[in-house]
Amino acid sequence: MRDSPPKAGHVRVRGAREHNLKNVDLDIPRDALVVFTGVSGSGKSSLAFGTLYAEAQRRYLESVSPYARRLFHQMPVPEVDDIDGLPPAVALQQQRGTPTTRSSVGSVSTLSNSLRMLYSRAGDYPSGQELLYAESFSPNTAEGACPQCSGLGRVYDATEASMVPDDSLTIRERAVAAWPPAWHGQNLRDILVTMGYDVDTPWRDLPKKDRDWILFTDETPTVPVYAGLTPAETRRALKRKETPSYQGTFSGARRYVLQTFANTESASMKKRVARYMVSTECPLCQGRRLRREALSVTFAGMDIMTLSRVPLERLAALLRPYADGTAPKGKARADKHPEQLIVTQRIAADLCARLDTMLALGLGYLALERSTPTLSPGELQRLRLATQVRSNLFGVV
Ligand SMILES: [Zn+2]
Repeated sequence: MRDSPPKAGHVRVRGAREHNLKNVDLDIPRDALVVFTGVSGSGKSSLAFGTLYAEAQRRYLESVSPYARRLFHQMPVPEVDDIDGLPPAVALQQQRGTPTTRSSVGSVSTLSNSLRMLYSRAGDYPSGQELLYAESFSPNTAEGACPQCSGLGRVYDATEASMVPDDSLTIRERAVAAWPPAWHGQNLRDILVTMGYDVDTPWRDLPKKDRDWILFTDETPTVPVYAGLTPAETRRALKRKETPSYQGTFSGARRYVLQTFANTESASMKKRVARYMVSTECPLCQGRRLRREALSVTFAGMDIMTLSRVPLERLAALLRPYADGTAPKGKARADKHPEQLIVTQRIAADLCARLDTMLALGLGYLALERSTPTLSPGELQRLRLATQVRSNLFGVV
């Protein structure tokens, strides 16, 4: 078998020894759907990814400049004697990777980039407004993000109800549940004792002024702390100017929660303080994540965030008339230069072609803004496949 001539229309693999492959020879038909099956550990992935894809990538990278090569995640050179008839290959790994919460259907498919280009170059601007660059239509850039919510669409805050879940408790009984645990929490309590706050009355019976200061102040006073003394003993010690246990610095509960959430490196701390926060729709952008100027630009009568939330099927239907030049040249479009209409048509046609691939893969019910961590593994796989197959390459494995 080893010396037989290559069969036409086949990929011929000889002596594959990657990982647990035991010197495997095989001929794989091209232009066909081929499935490798076998028990776990039999070498399916070693053959598909570790050998065929790795070799195709190695050959491709040999043809590009050393500079460009560095930009690729290079796979190790496969353990194989010889591979004939190997076309360029595309691989979709199975693992989910670690998509960030900001990764979306639009960003993974890069359709959002084109849509931002469309708004930048062909959107309807309110009179007097300067043209915006494409980045200004992205909530993930400083130019685009709503200044109040940093492009998240929601604002997070700590309220009395969120930080004091049980207001029948006293401060000593840890009414302020959002306070740090253990010693740090006791320290804050002892500071309040020094400052004359009542830590033995149920929270709900304290004056509102005191409750507000304890939770919301941005002041950080440093005071002497007498650890282990009762409030009465503390008052006496202060009057006699006794040497304190230490000097303690107070921090308001909201300040502690928000700063810890923003700055901690510890995932468990972040999770803990998040329990004491509430999120509401951003009042400035109404959850649309962008600056006002970007949201004032429309296409087909919609701002970019609204358009990013319609199902892909409807998005394709909306763009189609612009792609084939049959869109009504309405009032807002009457004053456009012919060049601008050409740009509109070109971008819309590109978007439609790529959307068609996604519709063909049954993804028409998704919207561009849908975040990828909420997709099923199968949906994510199809999405990545749609992104790869739109390249106009022939004969790709
Ligand atoms: Zn906002």
